[in-house]
Amino acid sequence: MAKILSGKELSEKLLIKQAEEVAQLKQKGIVPGLVVILVGEDPASQIYVRNKMRACEKVGIYSETIRLEENTSEEKLIEVIDRLNSDEKINGILVQLPLPRHIDDQNVLMRILPEKDVDGFHIANAGKLFTGQKSMLPCTPKGIMYMLDDAKIVFEGKNAVVIGRSNIVGKPIAMLLLNRNCTVTICHSRTQNLSEFTKHADILVAAVGKAKFVTADMVKKGAVVVDVGINRVDGKVVGDVDFEPVSEVAGYITPVPGGVGKMTISMLIQNTIEAAKA
Ligand code: NDP
Repeated sequence: MAKILSGKELSEKLLIKQAEEVAQLKQKGIVPGLVVILVGEDPASQIYVRNKMRACEKVGIYSETIRLEENTSEEKLIEVIDRLNSDEKINGILVQLPLPRHIDDQNVLMRILPEKDVDGFHIANAGKLFTGQKSMLPCTPKGIMYMLDDAKIVFEGKNAVVIGRSNIVGKPIAMLLLNRNCTVTICHSRTQNLSEFTKHADILVAAVGKAKFVTADMVKKGAVVVDVGINRVDGKVVGDVDFEPVSEVAGYITPVPGGVGKMTISMLIQNTIEAAKA
């Protein structure tokens, strides 16, 4: 039976440390500040933003949500970002994705100052990650590495397989695993014989967006299985991994909910604190 890696427990432990760190910064007159910009009424985004704000409150970070209407122009959104870029009280700026279709994500994300880019999506941060330099890391991959480090998972020389190649999860987690000396394979929708790759994975990361996509027969005995997926099925949140049967085979597994998602928010807080310190 796999050991469950609880993002819920770990993020709660980390929250205590983060609150202490924020309190120390406040004694020096520094209050970390995060602004989240939400454009439109996407229901999932509303929940994510609310959870982010709650976490900020818990650790004592100043936080603010700027809500803009669905029909807000790209120019207007960029004006808001420019204002926040030059606001010394704000250390982190996060634009909640997805944006309405008439707005170009890249134009918007590239406008955020890289040092305030707490989501780690700016090309300057992505480039630093790619070249192995210290950077603002995207929260989900950073959270995954934090979890695996906490569980003392060994990376050196291991076969890591990542299913998914998004800029937000798949590519950056692959890069982090590579930087830790894993042999990394990135799979995607055009990969042929997917299970031939996954069956050899010592570390398997599923970031696909399809409920119960990874089945027990695809997993190597004793593997570390990281489930990034958030899928809504009959009103319930399920991951990309078929949890019960895969738990019988894997050595370690992250649950959904209570796994990677919790760590993502924790790392947003961490990035904001680090930005404030810098
Ligand atoms: P994307 O939709 O951007 O990427 C999905 C990836 O899965 C693509 O690269 C796609 O391949 C690949 N894929 C799709 N179908 C298959 C298939 N049949 N076989 C192999 N690969 C396939 O999603 P994200 O990376 O943004 O997110 C992935 C999941 O993680 C989602 O469920 C999302 O909600 C969740 N998520 C969770 C977070 C958390 O905090 N826990 C944070 C961010 C995301 P191709 O490129 O060829 O299309």
